[in-house]
Amino acid sequence: MKISSVETFVITNRRILLKISTDTGPAGWGEPTLEGWSRPIEAIVEQMANYLVGQDPRRITHHWQVLARGGFYRGGPLFGSALAGIDQALWDLKARSLGVPIYELLGGATRSKIRIYAHANGRSGHTGHPDRARELVAAGYTLIKVAPDGQVGFVDNADYLDRFVTDLAELRGTIGDAIDFGIDLHGRFSVPMSRRALPLIEEFAPAFVEEPLRPEHSELIGSIVDSTSIPIATGERLYTRTEFRSVLEAGVAIVQPDLSHAGGISESFRIATQAEIYDAQLAPHCPLGPVALAACLQVDAAVPNFYAQETVIEVHDQQPGRGLELLTNPEVFVPVDGYLPVPTGPGLGIELDEDVIRSQVATEPLAPGSPTWFYPADDSFAEW
Ligand SMILES: [Mg+2]
Repeated sequence: MKISSVETFVITNRRILLKISTDTGPAGWGEPTLEGWSRPIEAIVEQMANYLVGQDPRRITHHWQVLARGGFYRGGPLFGSALAGIDQALWDLKARSLGVPIYELLGGATRSKIRIYAHANGRSGHTGHPDRARELVAAGYTLIKVAPDGQVGFVDNADYLDRFVTDLAELRGTIGDAIDFGIDLHGRFSVPMSRRALPLIEEFAPAFVEEPLRPEHSELIGSIVDSTSIPIATGERLYTRTEFRSVLEAGVAIVQPDLSHAGGISESFRIATQAEIYDAQLAPHCPLGPVALAACLQVDAAVPNFYAQETVIEVHDQQPGRGLELLTNPEVFVPVDGYLPVPTGPGLGIELDEDVIRSQVATEPLAPGSPTWFYPADDSFAEW
C-alpha cells in the first residue's frame, strides 16, 4: 500500500481538512486547522505531501519523526498543526484498513463513555452566564466552562476582583454543588493577577483554572500552582512532549493538548502517557470541527488518565451549519447525560460526505480569524 495523494480542503480560516489516499483504496481524513492560519497550513501540508506520496501509510511513527524533525526547523503551532492533520489521517487510514477504531490500536478502550463539556459564556463584562449554564445542566452536562469577558488589567482593581468573585458565586448558586465548572483565563491574567485572584475563588471549588498565564511564561506556572488549591490546567498553546514536561514538573493537574495542533493523535497520546506519571489528567482542547473532535474521542477512549473533552459543536442540539453537515453519521455525536458514546466505527468513527466538503471549499479570500486583541484606554495592546 502506498500513499497516492494528499489533498487539502480550505473551508474557512477556522476549518481546513485533508485527505490521504492510497493506490489500493483505503483513505483517511484529518483536520490540520490552526485558527486564523488556513493558507499557511495548506502550504505546509502541500510541502509535507512531497515526502508522503509514495510512502507506505502504515508507518505512522516513522513518518511522524521525519515530518517533525526532518525539516531541520521544528516545533510551534504551524508545523504542529500541519503534522497533526496528517497524523490523524494516517491513523484513520490504517485503522480503517484494518476495520477497527483507532483506539483499538492504542491498547483498546479504557472506558465505556466519554465525559464532555461545553461553554457557558455570553454576558458582556462578566465571567460566565447563569442562564446558559442552567441550559447546559438541563441538557445533562456535569462539567461546564466559563471565561472572563473583556479586558483585564495587569493587576486589576478591587472592582474587577469583586465582579469576578460575585459572578462565580452566582454561577455556583445556579448550578448547585453536584456540577463541576472550570474557568478559562485564556492567558489573559498576568502571573501576579492570577496569584491574587485565584485564592479569592477557592470557596466555590472550581474543577480547574485554565491558562492562568501566557504560554511564553510557562516556566512560572509552578508559582501559581503553589498559590492555590484549585487544580491548574494548561496546554492548548503547547505543541510537544518537551513543552509539557516543565508544566507537569511544576504540578499542573490537567493537560490540554489540542489534537489538531500538538502533533495529532500520536503526540497527544504520548503527552497523556507522560502526564500519567505526574498524576495529571488529559482534557484535550477542541474548539474545532467534527474531524478534530473525532480524533480527540479516540485518544479519550484509550488513555486511562482521561478527565473530560471540550466541545464547541452543539452536539446536544445538532443545528445545521456547525460542522455536523460534513458527516453522514452525525448521530455518533449525540450525547447522553453529558457523555458521548465511545465510537464504534472504523478509523476515526465518522463518515465524511466528500461532496459536501468539496462544495464548501473557499473560492474567495478568507475572512480573518477572530479578533485576538484589545486596545486599552491608553491605546496600547492587550491580548484576548
Ligand atoms: Mg482555553
